[in-house]
Amino acid sequence: MIEIADGVFIRRHTELDLTLGFITGSGDSLLVDSGMDPALADEVRPSRIVLTHNHFDHVLATEAFLPCEVWAHEDCVIDESLLESRAVYYSDPFEGTLIAPTHTFRDTVTLDVGGRRVDLHHFGPAHSSHDVIVHVPDVDVVFAGDLVEEGAPAQAGSDATPSNWRHVLNLMLELNPRIVVPGHGNPVDAQFVREMALPGQN
Ligand SMILES: [Zn+2]
Repeated sequence: MIEIADGVFIRRHTELDLTLGFITGSGDSLLVDSGMDPALADEVRPSRIVLTHNHFDHVLATEAFLPCEVWAHEDCVIDESLLESRAVYYSDPFEGTLIAPTHTFRDTVTLDVGGRRVDLHHFGPAHSSHDVIVHVPDVDVVFAGDLVEEGAPAQAGSDATPSNWRHVLNLMLELNPRIVVPGHGNPVDAQFVREMALPGQN
């Protein structure tokens, strides 16, 4: 765990260059994406997980953290179909149980993480139909999920909406983030997000 702002951490994984987030308050914590490594549950016991979107690399380890609330956008579907995309990368079978969200929202919801305000936003479809942006306003940190990637180009699969991507990023930048944490790669700044190349728009 690397602390990037007061009480806000990232966990970097060599596997797919994945980046998870961990936000702490007084006696409470929230994990941004469960990722693929159940062993993280030996280190942290969040009361809530927020899933940025339903791609397998962001959601498969949720079971290890139960019991906890699992937050996501209302269109976030966790089902067997996401194991098909996992099979493209990994030949071994997935041994765990897929865990669906327990709490959903449509546009915006504010959570209280041990006295700390954390806002979840959905600004429309882009990388997926249901991307969630996690904003920690007291330290100006935003977790962007796969709306932003560092070290590799942003990825648009069949569930992406490239034509709306820049609009979504612009709304995210209106939050005036000092640090933007990508779903893959190292944290970046707002300038990086302004200048990043988007799928299908080069
Ligand atoms: Zn993704």
